[in-house]
Amino acid sequence: MAVNVNDNFGLIQNNYLFVEIARRVEEYQKANPDVELIKMGIGDVTRPLAKTVLKAFHDAVDELGQADTFRGYGPEQGYDFLIEDVIKNDYNTIGVELKNSEVFISDGAKCDTGNFQELFSADNTIAVTDPVYPVYVDSNVMAGRSGKMGDDGFYENIVYLPCTEENDFVPALPEEDVDIIYLCYPNNPTGTTLTKDQLKEWVDYAHEHDALILFDAAYESFIKTENVPHSIFEIEGAKEVAVEFRSYSKVAGFTGTRCAYCVVPEEVYVKDSEGNDVQLNPLWNRRQSTKFNGVSYPVQRAAQAIYTEEGKKEIQENLDYYVENAKVIREGLEKIGLHVYGGVDSPYIWFKTPNDIDSWSFFDILLNDAHVVSTPGAGFGPSGEGYIRLTSFNTYENTVEAMERISKLEF
Ligand SMILES: *Cc1c(COP(=O)(O)O)cnc(C)c1O
Repeated sequence: MAVNVNDNFGLIQNNYLFVEIARRVEEYQKANPDVELIKMGIGDVTRPLAKTVLKAFHDAVDELGQADTFRGYGPEQGYDFLIEDVIKNDYNTIGVELKNSEVFISDGAKCDTGNFQELFSADNTIAVTDPVYPVYVDSNVMAGRSGKMGDDGFYENIVYLPCTEENDFVPALPEEDVDIIYLCYPNNPTGTTLTKDQLKEWVDYAHEHDALILFDAAYESFIKTENVPHSIFEIEGAKEVAVEFRSYSKVAGFTGTRCAYCVVPEEVYVKDSEGNDVQLNPLWNRRQSTKFNGVSYPVQRAAQAIYTEEGKKEIQENLDYYVENAKVIREGLEKIGLHVYGGVDSPYIWFKTPNDIDSWSFFDILLNDAHVVSTPGAGFGPSGEGYIRLTSFNTYENTVEAMERISKLEF
């Protein structure tokens, strides 16, 4: 008797990125215990939950403690009170109409973007931007949609769309036929965005090639620039070819609380092996009903509180705080002559290392000489080589101090 493993897991190139960062930081800190490092590497929020959110959270917990207001299993798709507020506040305000059955509340956009590929057969070709949020790639490798990773850092059978200074971080449409395209805008890790016209090209491509776009809008709340779409459904024709993922993690500090949602329009159809049309929405509903039992009631009440007038105001204060930090970083790096991207409609700043120093070497320079922890761009894919990501999820004081330290570097 032998249990056979899913061999595809053996193909996963362990993403040593954050492990390796932690190792280098620990080593440095051990040798230099008195140095105060400023951590601008990890993409996790730091501001506490807003007051209104916390109150709704507490109140809902109390409801569970009373016999007459106790709730057990909720709907797998989420409670209507939250779904209706999502539609009203996140979509109707930008002219998008949705039915309740098109919105699925979940415990995270990481889970949703990772799980969604289950609905598709293993022979689909996927396309990802490079650099990329690793979940899109790894979940497809696990499902057997790739070959091996080559020495160049690219998996076989996955189409990579480079996003670099050379194309202003706007990916070119694939030359080959692809089936499933992952787009994330505002982008993690580069912090860059697409305009409505640029996103329209992708929607048109999807129509022309019978492709599906999986659109990750986890950073939507950071968008300030006009003409940057908040949702792919602002683009004409997108409802037939796109699924959208959103999350409360970055907008409201829910990284530890866990709540997100995805929108699967009824208009999206894919094909079965005989070429018949199959509606996507009921498939996702089936998948969620089978494998997921909903987000806890207090968490959904906490998420709903974000949409109250008070909640909106408090959340905006937190977002503004990060945005101000992003500005400090952007301007600080520009002042010393670096090529800086993102940080306008995003908490992430992406910059080119000076003198073509590789990502990890510049990471070490920042660590050893400026005592700032960053993320080497190469960790997000081959096209991230030569770039560094900094995040604005820190205190204002630390952010200012970090820029002062970096400005004293000589290179
Ligand atoms: C942070 C992040 C998410 C959010 O994930 P959650 O599971 O909702 O916390 C999704 N996509 C990207 C690209 C992210 O950076």
